[in-house]
Amino acid sequence: VSDGANKKVSRVRVVVRLRPYMGTHDEKDEGSCVRGLDSKNLEIINMRNATETVKYSFDVFHGEQTTQQEVFLSVKPILPHILTGQNASVFAYGPTGAGKTHTMMGSSNQPGVIPRAVREVFKMVNAKNEVEGWDYSISMSYLEIYNEKVLDLLSPGSQDLQIREDKDKNILIPGLTHTTITSFSDFDKLFVPASLNRTTASTKINQRSSRSHAVLLLKVVRTQHASPHRQQTGKLYLIDLAGSEDNRRTGNQGIRLKESGAINLSLFTLSKVVDSLNSSTAVRVPYRDSKLTRLLQDSLGGSAHSVMITNIAPEYKFYFDTFGALNFASKSKLI
Ligand code: ADP
Ligand code: MG
Repeated sequence: VSDGANKKVSRVRVVVRLRPYMGTHDEKDEGSCVRGLDSKNLEIINMRNATETVKYSFDVFHGEQTTQQEVFLSVKPILPHILTGQNASVFAYGPTGAGKTHTMMGSSNQPGVIPRAVREVFKMVNAKNEVEGWDYSISMSYLEIYNEKVLDLLSPGSQDLQIREDKDKNILIPGLTHTTITSFSDFDKLFVPASLNRTTASTKINQRSSRSHAVLLLKVVRTQHASPHRQQTGKLYLIDLAGSEDNRRTGNQGIRLKESGAINLSLFTLSKVVDSLNSSTAVRVPYRDSKLTRLLQDSLGGSAHSVMITNIAPEYKFYFDTFGALNFASKSKLI
């Protein structure tokens, strides 16, 4: 794929993960409406009319039995790029309840993509430190986009932060905490309590976490030992997106509706960005229209490396949300 100026543009790898069936197979939830066909293809079945199926094809389809490590392996190939001054992003998309947080964060028994990626980055840096003429330094930031506000999860109670662009078109957030970490355990000590902060800050725990985007940023700066001591910065964004369900249909009102509107703005703009990047004619990429896409401007499309994990649930009550998420994902594939 190339853009108008014939530069190489990386496409987004699109991975779909189906979580295990959690219904009871009785009339109430009517069984599973997703069928895996092979390692790339799946179909969804309209249970009210079983002959009505829609087939989809992705880079990888991970079925119900997929382990956390197997999902991580579909992300791992982009990680080396952040050691050489390039940017990358991984985001989990899909309706609330489909497994985004399980996939990205996981649990202590079943760690997800985020802790596995951080371990891998330290492993790569430690191996390189011994053989190459560069010094590596790793730092982390952790933020939440809630109601189009950028909140610092490493500094609870902080104000809405601004997103800026420097003269080299790097996206920055002045005032955002970034803490140098020298080991996985440094990371873990900050990440676990901050993630808990995120969910317990609100009385309506699930509602808030399903309406905000949690964004972990890992920055790798490397400096050449020898003159001219060149410096390169690579960024990795690991994002647990807000739920993609249609909040108008689920009947949110008042403050909930306002939140839904803001979330819809970020997710809606993400889909417009994806469409624009995908378009063969020169169209404006509307990065600036929402906080999420503004933040990702230097790390999605262009020369950045991205993986989108679309999480889906098999129960029939998710049918319309699954259909929506798969349509979005199949468009993204073409970036
Ligand atoms: P989301 O973040 O998309 O709202 P969660 O990650 O919270 O969804 O998942 C919803 C529920 O399903 C949780 O109880 C979670 O532990 C469980 N779950 C999700 N994915 C899997 C999986 N692949 N294997 C086992 N349980 C899962
Ligand atoms: Mg979640």
